[in-house]
Amino acid sequence: MNRLLFFAILASFIFSSCADESAIKEMKTPFESSDSIETTTYEEAIDWWRALEKESAYFCLKEFGETDAGLPLHLIVINSARNFNFESIQKSGKIKWLINNGIHPGEPDGIDASMLYARQILSSEDFEQNFEDIIIMIIPIYNVGGALNRNCCSRANQNGPESYGFRGNARNLDLNRDFSKADSKNALSFIELFAHWNPDVYLETHVSNGADYPYTMTYLLSHPDKLALPLSNYVNDHLTPILQSKMLERNDEMIPYVNVFGTSPDSGYSSFYDSPRYSTGFTALHNSIGLLTETHMLKPFKQRVTSTLNFLHSLGEILAKDVKSIKDARIAADEVLQKQSEFILDWEIDKSQSELLNFKGYRAYYDTSEVTDEQQLYYDRDTQWEKPIQYFAHLKAKVSVASPTAYLVPASWNEVVQRLQLNNVVMKIINHDSTLNVTSYRIKDYSTSPKPYESHYYHYDVKIEEFENEVDVIKNTYYFVSTDQIKKRLIIEMLEPQGPDSYFNWNFYDEILQQKEGFSSYVFEPEAAEILKNDDLASRLDEFVALDSSVNNNARSKLDFIYKKSAHYERSSHLIYPVFRIE
Ligand SMILES: [Zn+2]
Repeated sequence: MNRLLFFAILASFIFSSCADESAIKEMKTPFESSDSIETTTYEEAIDWWRALEKESAYFCLKEFGETDAGLPLHLIVINSARNFNFESIQKSGKIKWLINNGIHPGEPDGIDASMLYARQILSSEDFEQNFEDIIIMIIPIYNVGGALNRNCCSRANQNGPESYGFRGNARNLDLNRDFSKADSKNALSFIELFAHWNPDVYLETHVSNGADYPYTMTYLLSHPDKLALPLSNYVNDHLTPILQSKMLERNDEMIPYVNVFGTSPDSGYSSFYDSPRYSTGFTALHNSIGLLTETHMLKPFKQRVTSTLNFLHSLGEILAKDVKSIKDARIAADEVLQKQSEFILDWEIDKSQSELLNFKGYRAYYDTSEVTDEQQLYYDRDTQWEKPIQYFAHLKAKVSVASPTAYLVPASWNEVVQRLQLNNVVMKIINHDSTLNVTSYRIKDYSTSPKPYESHYYHYDVKIEEFENEVDVIKNTYYFVSTDQIKKRLIIEMLEPQGPDSYFNWNFYDEILQQKEGFSSYVFEPEAAEILKNDDLASRLDEFVALDSSVNNNARSKLDFIYKKSAHYERSSHLIYPVFRIE
């Protein structure tokens, strides 16, 4: 026997000796053991996945990154080639599909469905053949802290399971609002994982809130209008219709996520605008296709888990066959992005165009509530209707910006630097003194949420004023971030202050909103008199006073106006956005 053949046989023996695919079929999940009324706990889930790892050579369970709960995140990698080396997986050209469960542990359908899915595919005779070109990665439970906060009742509108985790994580953060700002250790770990593995397709599992209707499964994709054209073409023309028909074949008809709260879907509804704080908005920044399952909260738990399992099988079948289309679409999307010169930062639903969606609904009606004595919306499930309704599928631009050649990002705002680096943005520290011509932004106006939202007093409606400037760069104090790189969209949406989920809006640059020095009126007043002798300034003060009657009897406001025109005012830092554009 030649040496190579000997080692090949030895290797196949080693790989197969620890695997017993037939034993996998016998591995009941906690969901099954409970007669489908309970979801697995965090500890049960990890134990079960570890037990599965012992039985299957196609499977590897890794720990990655920290969570706010102090326990690690886990990642399951399923590869029919039995190879879990990152570099060789990257080189393999296979599709990488990442499934994320338990971001909201009160919505646990995917946690249990993923266990059933992995067991079913791994124990199928055709596994190697059917999954030859796809790597499946599963995060069993992403919100570990929320999963540990097990309770009976926090999902008031949900039909089972008997107990489940809580929406907030160990710091009470909603992780599906945390993908751009990344306050949680969970999100920081996730971003690193996502940027490193670069999944082609991402699926996150949820349970809905809102209106009542007969469908068990609703779905949401990275908004196609926000994807580069080759990806949105693939999603619109191929992935979505085939996914719908495959679910229909499984007798599980589904409908786009019913984004309806407080009213009924009778008169139509709009698609969901997923800015980058949401997972599917975040994955779009990486030119990856994001999907969400949103099972209907009033359907029994068992039915919802089955529907999520149907979705996993349907999507898996499509992805396993579409390797070339998806790879080609992503490469083409990257090329389109490199040539793109104008980027939309903020979007809104385009009410001028709608399509007809054939919808099955329950009769909605209003009646006087015995509790409140007020009119209340109810659904009559005995009366079902089916009709085309208006579906507003498209977004239109609200705020756009031209791409610069590069940004200068100050090293001193290290939380921003850390997030950009975790996202695999290429950043080069400028290691010599230089003077650069840049475009600067003055923050002219902004609004701030009056109450904390996800631990922030979040900004919105930012108005900026551009001006050309020269910046003296001291070596090692600024990063040069070229936009000629694969993360172009992410760089622009995070660094342009008007992006709804920009670092500016999430308070990373709030330091510039505060004035650090001031004046005592009695000290400054004589100097103000001198300054005012400048005719132009006197007339501008008159205009200023005329514009705002409250200033008329306000000495301090008048002096402040003059102070801000004086040499004392910190005009290079106050309200000056410290990230500069190189055009
Ligand atoms: Zn959710």
